[in-house]
Amino acid sequence: MTTEAPAPLPHSPFAPDLFQGKRAFVTGGGTGLGLQISRRLAALGAHVSIASRNSEHHAAFLQEAEANGWSASAFVLDVRKLGDIAALVKQLREDGPIDLLVNNAAGNFVCPAERLTEGAWRAVLGIVLDGTFYCTREFGKGMIRDGGGVMLNVVATYAWTGMPGVVHSASAKAGVLAMTRTLAVEWARHKIRVNAIAPGPFESTGASENLWPDEGVKERMVRGIPAGRFATAGEVADHAVWLLSSASDYVTGECFTMDGGASLGQGMWQPGERVR
Ligand code: NAP
Repeated sequence: MTTEAPAPLPHSPFAPDLFQGKRAFVTGGGTGLGLQISRRLAALGAHVSIASRNSEHHAAFLQEAEANGWSASAFVLDVRKLGDIAALVKQLREDGPIDLLVNNAAGNFVCPAERLTEGAWRAVLGIVLDGTFYCTREFGKGMIRDGGGVMLNVVATYAWTGMPGVVHSASAKAGVLAMTRTLAVEWARHKIRVNAIAPGPFESTGASENLWPDEGVKERMVRGIPAGRFATAGEVADHAVWLLSSASDYVTGECFTMDGGASLGQGMWQPGERVR
């Protein structure tokens, strides 16, 4: 997977200085949804650090940041490595508090449960569940010392609906959702908000290659979405920005679904069918 220059940002509904003076950390912030969240936060004034395993994935964001005068940095990091996260948090906090954490990094692929190897199970649980907890704990310790912060976890609607073929990811995302609700309460006294977003399917290189590798699968999925289409990563990112902002200061432990109605009950009617 390589990154190419993303399309220009649309006109923002948010005040241009919404995140002025804030520092954000976005895992997997160089591609897909993470990139769309990172560029919005940076365009709205935050210093944004992105981190993932492959530095090639950081180039598009760093180039766009330089061209626009955004404040940005990028780090090679595997979120499964607790010691590396702790060292990076220490390094980042030398320049001041980190106010915003977005746990977006993930890995996923379709595999029947009976054929899922121990290694494959561990890989996805390691990135999604362990990685989210490791970042949450290490950045959380800093936020506790610094007097507060905001965290946003990216889950998926199958965390509660389940989805055949992705038992590894569904189990991990369900764990992240439980983590979100638990820490929202546990850390409220430290002025830390912890929320989640649950997107339905949206186009990203990772998802398109691993989850709907051919048009037939994608068409079947779209038929099950009342809104009649996938989301865009940008639409999902706009909602993430809102939850990270002070406009959501009283929202914590919440999981916001953005799936065009796909996870709602449809009774005997197919999406788009006229109710008689
Ligand atoms: P994506 O572009 O493939 O993003 C995944 C990112 O995670 C990549 O930037 C990758 O960078 C990073 N990553 C993977 N393993 C990592 C590790 N061990 N350590 C650090 N970074 C790691 O996919 P996306 O579709 O935008 O997904 C973003 C989030 O949305 C994920 O949490 C996903 O589960 C969620 N989501 C996606 C959909 C969808 O339809 N696309 C639907 C619901 C939820 P490197 O390869 O450089 O490490």
